[in-house]
Amino acid sequence: MRSEFLSFSPPLIGQEEIDEVVDTLRSDWITTGPKTRRFESEFAADRQAEAALALNSCTAGLHTTLLTMGIGAGDEVITTPMTFAASVNVIELVGAKPVLVDVEPDTLNIDPRAVERAVTAKTRAVLAVHYAGHPADMAAIQSIADSHQLAVIEDAAHAIPASYRDRPIGSGSNPTAFSFYATKNLTTGEGGMLTGPADFLEEARVISLHGMSREAWKRYEKGGSWRYDVVAPGCKYNMTDIQASLGIWQLKKLPLFQQRRAEIVGAYNAAFQELGELELPVVRDNVEHAWHLYPIRLVADALRIGRDEFIEELKARRIGTSVHFIPIHIHPFYRDKYGLEPNDLPVANDNFERILSLPLNPRMSEQDVADVIEAVDDVARRHRRRRRAA
Ligand SMILES: *Cc1c(COP(=O)(O)O)cnc(C)c1O
Repeated sequence: MRSEFLSFSPPLIGQEEIDEVVDTLRSDWITTGPKTRRFESEFAADRQAEAALALNSCTAGLHTTLLTMGIGAGDEVITTPMTFAASVNVIELVGAKPVLVDVEPDTLNIDPRAVERAVTAKTRAVLAVHYAGHPADMAAIQSIADSHQLAVIEDAAHAIPASYRDRPIGSGSNPTAFSFYATKNLTTGEGGMLTGPADFLEEARVISLHGMSREAWKRYEKGGSWRYDVVAPGCKYNMTDIQASLGIWQLKKLPLFQQRRAEIVGAYNAAFQELGELELPVVRDNVEHAWHLYPIRLVADALRIGRDEFIEELKARRIGTSVHFIPIHIHPFYRDKYGLEPNDLPVANDNFERILSLPLNPRMSEQDVADVIEAVDDVARRHRRRRRAA
């Protein structure tokens, strides 16, 4: 057994990132400035997006989007329970009602048929999350949204660099929010990016920075003016050049990171294919998976232990895991406010009970991967339920 604990998702920061941060700290500009602009344009080019707006989180991107769209009291936004709280909290924060609908059993992405059934006269938008890095069924979601004149917002926290029908996630006309949180595929410690149409992002930029019609960093540029107008009560969500210094290099390294993620996924798939105790992640045709997560589902009838014990057994073998996600409707605030029972969203609930995410990140060595495989295999075999003779 390995002697050191294998962390679930440590960051991978190199000398280039460190040098760039130091260069920024030694410059005269440490907040939103030239490096943030450069990161925005390089990110937009990478995602084939019309434009990009760098912010201090994905949460900020989603919140800014709802505010810019004027979604608020009396409005409903249809979304998924299989996400991090941030995607749904922002809907509450603008005063709108999140309407949670169930997910598809294979990808655990929002189920378009459930979206269709949940549309009311109050519905303004559908907020889709590309769970684990597998794109949601955007063609079906878009056609429902179009027929009811709803906006579509994409939470792409897991989805860099994912593609749907050969188009990068973030390249279309839906506002799409990416996360550069410490555990994500590309990190700036904390950070996020919103992509979408240039005119929408221009409005969003104002909302994201105090509602000021001119940006602070331009005010202090050579020849910049001291004058600005506040046109809305905005937020304070800008990215700093210190964060962008990390992002510029992480973006350059992303193809290498992804290659390593894909290799690890290949090794897991090959090793676990024969284990009847596990269900492995599904990849549909016409998508490129970003492989942010590798969630496995335990086959309840095949094991004598549940998910929680499985996690403890892996921890005892010094393997870190996580659970994505505790469905939103199980959290006390949403459960109580909307009177939700676990089985109101049966697919999300059933999968939550038996899901866990294995370590998957480009820091992992061949030995780390082999250790995870050995540990999972050992736990599954030891706790396998013996089949009774027919
Ligand atoms: C991480 C995450 C977020 C929040 O990202 P931040 O950049 O930390 O705000 C939102 N949605 C999902 C699905 C996430 O995993």
